Amino acid sequence: MSYWHTPTRGHSITAALAAIAALVVAGLLASSCGSSGIDGAGATEPPIQNTSTTVAATTTSAPTTVAPTTTLPPTTTTTKAWPKSPVLTIPAAGAVPVISTIATADPVVFLTIDDGMVRDPRVPELLAQFHVPVTLFLNQGPYLADPDYFMRVIASGGSINSHTKSHTQLTKLSAAAQRNEICGMKDIIGEHVFVAGHLFRAPYGVSNKATQTAAGSCGINAVLYWHAALNDGRVQYQQGNQLQPGDIVLAHFRDDLYDSLRAFLWQCAVQGLTVAPIEDYLPLPAGG
Ligand SMILES: [Zn+2]
Repeated sequence: MSYWHTPTRGHSITAALAAIAALVVAGLLASSCGSSGIDGAGATEPPIQNTSTTVAATTTSAPTTVAPTTTLPPTTTTTKAWPKSPVLTIPAAGAVPVISTIATADPVVFLTIDDGMVRDPRVPELLAQFHVPVTLFLNQGPYLADPDYFMRVIASGGSINSHTKSHTQLTKLSAAAQRNEICGMKDIIGEHVFVAGHLFRAPYGVSNKATQTAAGSCGINAVLYWHAALNDGRVQYQQGNQLQPGDIVLAHFRDDLYDSLRAFLWQCAVQGLTVAPIEDYLPLPAGG
């Protein structure tokens, strides 16, 4: 087994699609992985030449969706097995790709949660209630503060992955220092769980070619960005006014996470989308 993954399928789809219009409101909220309040340790080695930095798209003027305050979608069980369309098998070596969305015809989206500073006990309960798999990107301090908490968060599937050890901005580091941050955190996770996840997210949504090469050097096969975000109890879109199939959705372990997840699950139900494990769509090559 090459990665931690439980193939429990995503949360329910509700038939109650009424009042969708009431859920959509305008918003002007910024999305940033750096809003978690974790500051990096800073560069200790000379910065490398950086002519191909990749920066995450933002949702500064995107429409947003909020959940009703008193209800959640009813729980049902899906019998559908995803993925139905071909998966993307990507190499586990060399400069691995940066991915913000999965090209798929399946009615699925993917939930990711970063950092780990605030560990709300309601979050694993909510995800278990709706059988939601989730891919985590964690830093050393918050992860080691309570590894068992994060295991409960992924009880319905998903994986725990590196988000660097210290949440530093990687493009300010040498290639060797980047590798220490990326692969060092993957090693730490591997000491506590069966197998560390094989995906990576760069702090602040900033990476470069050295990031992609460093990740590939330790069995990571994709750098994940995002195509929608959860902030302040709202779903924020980079495209249109609703989720797109294949969207990677960014959230953070913050005080607003529980409310944001409720809004997200409601929006998935309204659109008939299932939250699927992204590990199914980005598998390691056979034998990887
Ligand atoms: Zn972060």
